[in-house]
Amino acid sequence: MNDKAVATEIVNDPDKVLFFQKKAMPYKHVTVADLIKLYLKQDGKCALCGDDIIFDTQKTHIDHIVPRAKGGEDEIDNFEFACSVCNYAKRDMSLKEFVLMCLKVENEYHKTDILPKEEIQAIVERRWKKESRSKKAV
Ligand SMILES: [Zn+2]
Repeated sequence: MNDKAVATEIVNDPDKVLFFQKKAMPYKHVTVADLIKLYLKQDGKCALCGDDIIFDTQKTHIDHIVPRAKGGEDEIDNFEFACSVCNYAKRDMSLKEFVLMCLKVENEYHKTDILPKEEIQAIVERRWKKESRSKKAV
């Protein structure tokens, strides 16, 4: 489905429109249209983990790319949709700090037997496929 078709589907679904209205509400300079554009730009995926964005205000957050705690503003250019799990984990870290933390965790994780190595590999490959897909779209 192309962006126009996805956007049409969203505006024809009152629940999805309500989701974007609720998400836009706290921000003076951000409109529903801005957030729908952002959603399309992210291909409907969490900016951090790549999982599908869920149209639920509790499960999907607006992450500040430059955290508010570090002077980031409430502007659309500083926003990305992230699932609540990722956003809670990232807290007030910059993307770089968050990625470095994830790499540290991953490094330690490999030393454990929590997941078989084949399963970790499968996760990494799925992520890589998503990345190469989104790069093609740009
Ligand atoms: Zn996520």
